[in-house]
Amino acid sequence: MSNKVGGKVAIITGGASGIGEATVRGFVIHGAHPKAYNKKLQGKVAIITGGASGIGAATVHLFADHGAGAIVIADIQDEKGEELAASIGDRCACTYVHCDVTKEQDVESLVQSTIRLHGRLDIMFCNAGILSRSMQTILEFDLPSYEKLFAINVGGVAASIKYAGQAMVKASSRGSIICTASIAAGLASDRNTDYVMSKSSVIALMRCASTQLAPNGIRVNCVSPGPVATPALCENLGMGADDIESMFSRMFRLKNDGVLKVKHVADAVVFLASEESQFITGHNLWLSFVVGTPLLCRH
Ligand code: NAD
Repeated sequence: MSNKVGGKVAIITGGASGIGEATVRGFVIHGAHPKAYNKKLQGKVAIITGGASGIGAATVHLFADHGAGAIVIADIQDEKGEELAASIGDRCACTYVHCDVTKEQDVESLVQSTIRLHGRLDIMFCNAGILSRSMQTILEFDLPSYEKLFAINVGGVAASIKYAGQAMVKASSRGSIICTASIAAGLASDRNTDYVMSKSSVIALMRCASTQLAPNGIRVNCVSPGPVATPALCENLGMGADDIESMFSRMFRLKNDGVLKVKHVADAVVFLASEESQFITGHNLWLSFVVGTPLLCRH
């Protein structure tokens, strides 16, 4: 974390007044005072589902870096979750709670215990999810595996929004809810039908929830990452992280320094959780991928 535009050269057209003038001031502050905007989540209380691994675990670390007051890691991998919570040490109050997001009772008590312990809930990151192992086309569609996938990827997100939303409404707090969808939701994929359906549903769910909770000042948004070499993706593709990154770096149009990593997804989550996005709701952030363009096959 550093001053965000320090050293950069910028042109701002219409910079003499209004939004342009405010941006000039913002750029100056970010360049001149590196520490001024460092801690974006000072004192906030957050729950991160699926927080024991991959994108969720990276977000736990970044929330702590940004001064979160308390983080509750909710997952079903108890050992990993406990270890991660302990590793956050004295950076903030970080605890682990066993919570299977497919069990409504688990999610309800997760939120209730957070409120009991920390007095409120400011941020709910609904991130728990699984990838599809079947890679099925519609001709191979398998109802039981679809039901299992939907129970976690869609039902689990709905339950998380429901109980977090209820707590935020009751406390009249202007909370932020962020869900992990996927670039899969933007693809007319030739395989992976059930996963694509599940992540499209997460975006639809987010849009409904953002409309319904807007009158209470509660924001709901999504991040939709491109492929990130997390334990889940490595296992799913049966490949190492380096091979996955090299394969996908050839397929995406956005030329950047390196490839999409868990930290970049966590950066987007911090933005959506922070006051910097206080007027942003009902949005889905595609990461590393331009929807509507074909993948490139470069060698
Ligand atoms: P991961 O396996 O490293 O992390 C997912 C976590 O969710 C795990 O700790 C797992 O134990 C937990 N989880 C699974 N089922 C659960 C349940 N029923 N209740 C509570 N926790 C449960 O995988 P990841 O890649 O970090 O995935 C995180 C999210 O990102 C998922 O929703 C996934 O679909 C999405 N995503 C991943 C990628 C990618 O390429 N890795 C891309 C786009 C979206």
